[in-house]
Amino acid sequence: MKEEIRAFSYSLGFDICRFTTARPAEHQAAFEDWIQAGHHGEMGWMERSVPKRVEPQKVLEGAKTFICLGVSYHRTEDRKEKPDEGVIARYAKYNDYHEVLSEKLKAITEYLSEKGGRNHKSLWYVDTGPILERDIAERAGVGFVGKHTNLISRQLGNWLFLSEVITTLPLEPDTPEKNRCGTCSRCISSCPTGAILQPFVLDARKCISYFTIELKGPIPVEFRKAMGNRIYGCDDCLAACPWNKFARQGSLMAGHYRKDLGGSELVSLLDLTEEEFKKRFAGSPILRTKRKGLLRNVCVALGNVGNEATLPALEKAVRDKEPLVVEHALWAIEEIKARSLTRANQ
Ligand code: SF4
Ligand code: SF4
Repeated sequence: MKEEIRAFSYSLGFDICRFTTARPAEHQAAFEDWIQAGHHGEMGWMERSVPKRVEPQKVLEGAKTFICLGVSYHRTEDRKEKPDEGVIARYAKYNDYHEVLSEKLKAITEYLSEKGGRNHKSLWYVDTGPILERDIAERAGVGFVGKHTNLISRQLGNWLFLSEVITTLPLEPDTPEKNRCGTCSRCISSCPTGAILQPFVLDARKCISYFTIELKGPIPVEFRKAMGNRIYGCDDCLAACPWNKFARQGSLMAGHYRKDLGGSELVSLLDLTEEEFKKRFAGSPILRTKRKGLLRNVCVALGNVGNEATLPALEKAVRDKEPLVVEHALWAIEEIKARSLTRANQ
């Protein structure tokens, strides 16, 4: 039965499929401490779901098994952005993986009902569910949680989307994976903002991914310079990991790559109306920031890499309807002018 499920998941395009028992995650105390310390920032949904996140039986009564699935989003020919373009995290250059994977996960739950009988229940989650998915995936042997707090597969590196099916079907658990970071600390030293406080502890309130995607309000001034020209997410700690030498392109996401999202010129992004924003990013995770969030990020990027030629676009942004955009555009103008002045005085 297990091998049939695995084979079915591979036929759908999943790269990894492993099994573990539906019991609480090993690091539940560490997760609760992390929430207590406020390291999740404004991600209140994490705090609200703590009781469910640590107890699978609260997610699905009678749950016996987690089926943990991994999909590679590695791309061999990923194009590097130019200095006047906005850098977008690798995962966001695809159609929204929640949508891509949800249809496949639904197919797995239907397959389980067919194979295991209608009296068995199964639920699927991709990222958003109340499950400590990296811990569960480690226990299932999908990979290990690295010091950067993401999951690393020995076969595929860390460019992975995780998802899971929780089911009342009892299935033999696979062998867990153990941490294999050793003495390496490349991810910690590569972080531009010092967000990885110590191995396995990330403070979202210092993380560029959090600022550019999750944070609704202004980006703290002290972290703006470190953002460089990143406008959606940050890959530095993931890219630093030596286990990526094993990364390989999977089949499932390849057809969902969005060439149109790479190489976005900063100045032209600043010109997007609400309608143009929705049209340009339709189906992509970037919609999450809404126009005002993306333009906020673009202003910061221009403040870091822009020059006099970009000032007219920023001056136009100062008249934007969104106060959030206005404040960041003003900051960017000041930064560019200060750089020009320094150059002139040299
Ligand atoms: S995503 Fe970027 S800012 Fe966040 S921890 Fe990793 S390297 Fe640091
Ligand atoms: S970069 Fe090194 S320390 Fe960080 S997750 Fe990868 S192996 Fe572990």
